[in-house]
Parts: sequence; structure tokens; C-alpha cells
Amino acid sequence: MPNFSNQLPPESETKGFDLKRTPPDSPLKGLITSDDIVGCYTHWWGGRTVPCEGDSCEACHNSAPARFHCYLSLCLNGSRQHVIFECTSKAADVLVDWRNTHGTLRGTLLTAHRPKRVKNSKVELLLKHVDLTATILPKPPDVRQALCVLWKLPTTAMPTNDAEHNAPLITPDQAVLNRMRFQPGDGMPSNGKKRRVSQ
Ligand SMILES: [Zn+2]
Repeated sequence: MPNFSNQLPPESETKGFDLKRTPPDSPLKGLITSDDIVGCYTHWWGGRTVPCEGDSCEACHNSAPARFHCYLSLCLNGSRQHVIFECTSKAADVLVDWRNTHGTLRGTLLTAHRPKRVKNSKVELLLKHVDLTATILPKPPDVRQALCVLWKLPTTAMPTNDAEHNAPLITPDQAVLNRMRFQPGDGMPSNGKKRRVSQ
């Protein structure tokens, strides 16, 4: 039986993080709390976003197009809300360059905007060093785990140790991530490109 109540749960019981994309009308600003980006192919499948699961992916087998997105955790200016930010791989080039140059994204001020101010138009990201001496930067969430919650996947399937190298649900294409991680300036797969199922 469901446990119904006429009371709302306390704030501390609210699980998960909101997913934020760049709005068309005003820039999104905040401090990045994660060290790095997490990238993943996703499909729009069955009326919702699902991560591509590689060779066993139902969406791929039904020729549903896959898109590559990048995610990071962000503490929004003003509201201080801690969210998961999503952008396309094209927009994320600047994040990869910054990470490769400075070693981490954490503590960097991110401004995301759409120059054309139109929904789904190109996103531009600007990064800036800021003085953090008077700022307490919150601990970053496990972005992969937060995505599992957003995508309603069982987080119990997530490895808890060595998460960097073991996240099959979220990082089906390890080769892409390795390339993003270790080769400065190397391009990421273009947005909207159909992901090939390996033979
Ligand atoms: Zn797939």
C-alpha cells in the first residue's frame, strides 16, 4: 500500500538534482562544482530521455538517433541551487579546453547563453576565474548517479568503487570518453550524429 500523507516532505528528504539547460531568454550563471564533465549518448525513446546502452540498446536497434550530451554540476548564482547542467558536445569544447589547461573545472564561473535568444539555438559557454576566498563551494554530487536518478535507472547498478572507470550504464562508449579525457583539443562527436552499433 502507498504511504499517503497530507504533509510535504522536509527539504532534506528531497532527492536528486534538477537538470538545467540553457534558457533562450536570459543567461544561466553559476559556479561549477564538479572537476570534470560526464558525457553520454542519449535517445529520446518511449517518450523520455534514456541513455544509450551500447550493443544491447533497444533504441539503437530500432534506429532511434542518438545525441551526445555533456553534464556537470553547477551551483547557480542567486538561488544557490545545486543542479546538473546539460549542454551539447559542441558547446562543451570550451569546457574540455579549460579542464585540459587548468586541470579542473571546479570553482570556475560558467555563463551559458544562446546568442540568438531562440529555443534550441546554439549555446555559448563562457568560463572565468573568480576569487573564491569568501565562497564556500558545495561538495559536488556524483553526476553519474544524479543522472541515473533523473533517468529513473536503478542506481544500485552503479559501481561505487573506481567510478571513474566503471560506469557501463552511463558511459557506453568508453573510447569517446577516453578521447575527451586525454587528448587536448581533440574534437568530440558532433551533435545529432547517429551512433553506430558496433558489430
Ligand atoms: Zn542506443
